[in-house]
Amino acid sequence: MINIDSIKNGIVIDHIQAKKGLKIYEALNLKELECSVAIITNARSKKMGRKDIIKIDQSIDLDLDILGYIDPNITINIIKDDKRVDKYHVKLPKEIVNLIKCKNPRCITSIEQELDQVFVLTDEKNKIYRCKYCESKKTE
Ligand code: ZN
Repeated sequence: MINIDSIKNGIVIDHIQAKKGLKIYEALNLKELECSVAIITNARSKKMGRKDIIKIDQSIDLDLDILGYIDPNITINIIKDDKRVDKYHVKLPKEIVNLIKCKNPRCITSIEQELDQVFVLTDEKNKIYRCKYCESKKTE
């Protein structure tokens, strides 16, 4: 059982694949937050066996779109006054900035390293992202 009671107002990122919690923490840049953030690893889950959970102990406006790209099964719980007021899955983001790199050696981002790496969702059904600059498909 997750204990969301320990958070009065904040965000609980639940159903993270086990061992992926730290990756999510880094992708969301949570170390920059002033409030307390807890990562729970290998929590028991009926649905998943094991899972990771991140608790953010403050109501903040956080851009969680990237989670839809990393793992669409992650659920977001919004906690207000000790109660869960919202629960949802994150949709695929329209743009991904500085998480994945373009592999095309002739892409301008390979030459000008200070440019943001931007990938744009061009096919939502097939989850295809293309580099904003050279239109290369994102490859694993
Ligand atoms: Zn490119």
